[in-house]
Amino acid sequence: EIAGALFNVQPWNIVTAYDAASGKVLWRYDPQVPTRFGRLACCDIVSRGLAVWHGKIYVATLDGRLIALDARSGKPVWSVLTVDNRKNYTITGAPRVYGGKVLIGNGGAEMGVRGYVTAYDAETGKQAWRFYTVPGDPAKMPEGAASDSVMAKAAKTWTGEWWKAGGGGTVWDSLAYDPALHLVYIGVGNGSPWAQTFRSPGGGDNLFLASIVALNVDTGHYVWHYQTTPGEEWDYTATQQMILADLRIGGKVRKVIMQAPKNGFFYVLDRKTGELLSAKTTVPINWATGIDMKTGRPIENPAVRYGKVPVLVSPGAGGAHNFNPMAYSPLSGLVYLPVSETYMGYAAADSFDPAHPGLGTSFAGYDAERKKISEYADAHSRGWLSARNPVTQKEVWRTPDEQKGSGGGRASAGKRGGQGNIATTFAAYRADTGKKVWQMPVQQVPIAAPITYMLDGVQYIAVNAGWGGGLAHVERSNYSRLFIGKPRLLVFKLGGTAKLPPMPRESVEVPELSPPPKLTATDDVVARGEQLYGQNCALCHGVAARGGVKDLRHLSPQTHADFLAIVLGGKRAANGMASFADVLTQDQAEAVHQYLIARANQDWDH
Ligand code: CA
Repeated sequence: EIAGALFNVQPWNIVTAYDAASGKVLWRYDPQVPTRFGRLACCDIVSRGLAVWHGKIYVATLDGRLIALDARSGKPVWSVLTVDNRKNYTITGAPRVYGGKVLIGNGGAEMGVRGYVTAYDAETGKQAWRFYTVPGDPAKMPEGAASDSVMAKAAKTWTGEWWKAGGGGTVWDSLAYDPALHLVYIGVGNGSPWAQTFRSPGGGDNLFLASIVALNVDTGHYVWHYQTTPGEEWDYTATQQMILADLRIGGKVRKVIMQAPKNGFFYVLDRKTGELLSAKTTVPINWATGIDMKTGRPIENPAVRYGKVPVLVSPGAGGAHNFNPMAYSPLSGLVYLPVSETYMGYAAADSFDPAHPGLGTSFAGYDAERKKISEYADAHSRGWLSARNPVTQKEVWRTPDEQKGSGGGRASAGKRGGQGNIATTFAAYRADTGKKVWQMPVQQVPIAAPITYMLDGVQYIAVNAGWGGGLAHVERSNYSRLFIGKPRLLVFKLGGTAKLPPMPRESVEVPELSPPPKLTATDDVVARGEQLYGQNCALCHGVAARGGVKDLRHLSPQTHADFLAIVLGGKRAANGMASFADVLTQDQAEAVHQYLIARANQDWDH
């Protein structure tokens, strides 16, 4: 909130300024992101927020631009391209302004990119520094980047020709800043490809994947790092939100940084030195039995390093905690974080070609093993809002609703916290006990975290009520008839009298389902289609075509007729379904179609 205005960002990075008291639209800015970039976003065309600094609003776009807008008019002041558009980069994270510099990372570690963070002068857009999170081609070092001084050390933890596949390590969400220490903290993502056997065949820690790295804000130079998951191969990003706080631990006040990354541990580190102070699990997991406090390394379960036979791993790729923000209240001394207990089967692909980037994993074959894993996962997956004492590392209370898919949490000085949840309500809880003190049905799942602001002595709570992103893709396989309504920005205040208008019918109702066409293809064609589907489609449309951004078991007769025109011809590119003509031949696209017809027939009775 700035000068009585509330700024919001929605899919395709469209920015809107509202009068923060009345909701009247002041201006709207559409950066005109080409819809073909939708194909490159692993986990939906999401946007995680804006930055505000000295009369400017900063937005990063899916196609890799960083744009400064005039906060009063919404007109662009400067714009820079922060990625190489010939590679599979996207940006879904929010920029942050620290020490007069605007920092931005990127995404694409599911598609063969090399992660980095860039700092630009907030006034002019001139580049100040760039820090790469993983080493590049040793023949091309040094590369004139802030990371040069530490890349040789990082390269010692990689083997083979890792740079050909990008390496990953994208910083797609969390950054934090301590102005007194002059340090910027970056949360680094997963490896690319996922399977370490293809990424770094001789093993190794693969720095700085899945790490928190502290950098000097002026120069971008390396100061310290802590790696949460050495040699990660389960999509265990450490990009989750980081909280800085002063905690009394062992009789001493420590300046800490806290993170609950995907891997299921809750870490408390000294933010000046990177010293590990404590680490405990937030949910049941099987990939590690604990953290060795002498070395700071996980005690890994060797059974979760996968080959071609699928193995059950917990957490799954969605993580025990994902992008949904967590909150800390110095009043209650508690951290509020949405957690998930998840399970997933992982298996390596037969082969991997860096020229065709992907996960290096397989989602096909070994039907009996996969069935066992998915039955176990379905029976044991759950999620809740967890209130945690970061000093004792104990959960103090949790919300009773244990379905996955709820939103981020927010602490408030009024001894209450708020969260949107999977039951399509927005609720407030007592911060100390977790007692629900208020809730309102909002017709949608507010999956984003709420914010709060004061205006003329009145406190407001604002939340985006809409359900999307990677987790929603997966969960749609369980609640396929829910939450397709249009997203909304909701603003609350004490004594507010506005009534929520009903969701327009056309945005709520699922179109009537038609029986699938009869399957005529041979088993061979269907099996080939299954392989191709796993390599090219599963990330957005769900493993085994369950769930996803659109459930492909439910194609209308028209979509069946248009299948090749959509997949190869780009007929639905305006909706974000770009052409795959550069990856699939007509024969291959037809095999994928036959596989989907087979899946639709298998599941039609259900
Ligand atoms: Ca990832």
